[in-house]
Order: sequence, then structure tokens, then C-alpha cells
Amino acid sequence: MSRFFLEKMVASRLRFFLVLVWSCLFIAGAVAEPLAIDLGRSDPERHVRPLGEPYRGPLIDTHSHLVAPKGKMTAYGNPDILAILERADVSRIILLPTPNAAVNNDAAVRGKREALRKASAGRVLAMCGSDYLTHWMYDAALSGKLPGDSVSQMERLTTDLNGGGCAGVGEIGLFHFAKVRQQAVIKLPAAYPPLLAIGEVAAKAGLPLDLHAESREPNMAPHQAEVFATIDSLFERAPGLRLICSHTCLTTARNARALLQAYPGLMMNLRAFRNPEEWGHLEPITDLQGRLYDDWAALLEDMPDRFMIGDDFMFGWNDPESYERHFQKMRRMLGSLPATVAKKIAFENAVKLFGPLP
Ligand SMILES: [Zn+2]
Repeated sequence: MSRFFLEKMVASRLRFFLVLVWSCLFIAGAVAEPLAIDLGRSDPERHVRPLGEPYRGPLIDTHSHLVAPKGKMTAYGNPDILAILERADVSRIILLPTPNAAVNNDAAVRGKREALRKASAGRVLAMCGSDYLTHWMYDAALSGKLPGDSVSQMERLTTDLNGGGCAGVGEIGLFHFAKVRQQAVIKLPAAYPPLLAIGEVAAKAGLPLDLHAESREPNMAPHQAEVFATIDSLFERAPGLRLICSHTCLTTARNARALLQAYPGLMMNLRAFRNPEEWGHLEPITDLQGRLYDDWAALLEDMPDRFMIGDDFMFGWNDPESYERHFQKMRRMLGSLPATVAKKIAFENAVKLFGPLP
């Protein structure tokens, strides 16, 4: 046999061997199949689930904000959040600093949020960190360098998380574009090392990380691939992480399903009623009447343990009266799902993640 044929035979056997090894690893779950990303946009006219009788059980809002009034939005600057929760029949709320807290002068409300949490006997919980972490990362990303003070920032976060007053880390921004006029933009590189470090600190503390990641810019420039790569890297770095991709990851039902199937530690919260002028490109889960699209309803039924409610209300900017109306609509939306599914999404999953009500 000539040397040429011998080399060819060895190469082909080696290739066969490598494919065999990869296949065994894939079957054993050691290497992941690359996820198929859906880059298409869902039809806003697609079929919806009719509304049912309102869900009447307990309900937890796992994602809302208390923000400092700014500009003309001073009328709602001092909301009585406990009274509002009572009227809306919401058992518990989790307040997070927004991704843009650092540029919106929200240091002013940090003390207020903390005082409310302490006075609420467990009805108000708070997440920590975004007010000093998101724009710290973005400023470094803009300079094209990694931040030099990662160690001290992670120490600060660790101290916060171990202090007992934090229900998790968030709302950290990966991609946050100008949907509303003058909204500050956040755009981190995919799998940005400081963000992976934050995920690792959260996992070590046993607390969830809440992430805001828009899949498209308002001009439709796609970012799904970076979102997928970042989520993959977060779990690769910290396999025990509990990651909440906020607002159903602002992506299609098909992408959400692929992500949830690939990462058992991933959850999502539902922000149901968006202004389509501002949020229409970010895959709303309901139509304008608040009826769930069929693809989302099917996903909620297939994976009922992976979703929670997160109204994304802005106390301080939004009319507090509208909070109660949001939850009336939310209960009608939940009413279109089987009762066991609605209860998990409204309440039980949040209790599992954040602990029982007092
Ligand atoms: Zn958000």
C-alpha cells in the first residue's frame, strides 16, 4: 500500500473515531448541539387564545421598579406601594433597580426601596446591583477595555448578596435600546467577562440573576445570536446559576422554547401588555386585547415551571392607579390557561425561587 493511501486511510479512520466520540458525548449530554436561532419576526395578527374567567388565586409580581421622578414625571413620585399592592391583590412584589438606574439618578430611591422592604414584613423584596454594575460594564465596553476594578466590584456584590437584603442580582442590562425617546442605550459585548463574573457571584450566593436582553434594536438590527451566546457562557461558567431572562427574553416563542430546553436553570418572567409603538419589535406575548398568542400559550402549558409574572411597573413614573388595572388584565390572561398552569406562573414558581410568604 502506498504511503498516500495509508495516510488517507488513517485520516478517514481518525475522522470516524472523532465523530464517534462526539456522538457519544452528545448523547451523554457532555457537549451541546448548537441551538437553532429563529431570526424571523412573529406575525402580530396570528391566532390568539380566548380570554377565560379571571384567575382568582394568589399572585406575585417578581419584576417591577421604584424609580426617581424625572422631568415631567413628578406627579407619581411618592407612591404608597403597600396600599397599591393591597388594592391590586398582589401578595408580594420584587423591586429591582433598572438597568439604567445609574444614569437616571436612582441613587435617590435606593434608601426608599430599602426602607420599604424592611417595613413590609416580607411583602416587598429587593434585588441588588444593577445600579452600580450595568453602566460600570457599559462604560468599560465603550472604552474597548475590560474594567480594571472587577475584583472590588465583585467583592461589593458578594457583600450585598450575603447581607440578607437581596433577593437576587438585577435588573442587569445586556442589550437595552432606545425604545422610548431619550432612553439611555446599553450594549455589551456577547459573553462579556464582567457579566459572566456577576453570574458566578450570583450562583455562589445561591441567588438568581435577572437579565434584560433585547433581541432586536428598534431598527430591527438582530442581536439574538449574542443573547444566545451570552446565556450559554453564563451557564458554562456557573452551571448552578438560576437565570431569569426578563420579559420572556424579548424574543420569539420558538427561541424561548429552545433556550428553556437547553438550560434547565433558566426561567422567564411575563410582561404582558406593551405599547406596540415602543415594544412591538420585541415579540409581545399578547395581542392588544391582552389575549395570549397561541405559540406562547402552548409554551406556558408545556413548560409551566419556568415562568413567573413580572409586570415591569415603574413606581414613580407610571400612574399608580394603572397597577391595579394591569393585574386585572393579567388575571384574565392567566384565566385562559389551565388552573394548575396559571397558579404555577402566578405564584408557586416565585415561591420556589424566592421563598414562602411570611
Ligand atoms: Zn427590563
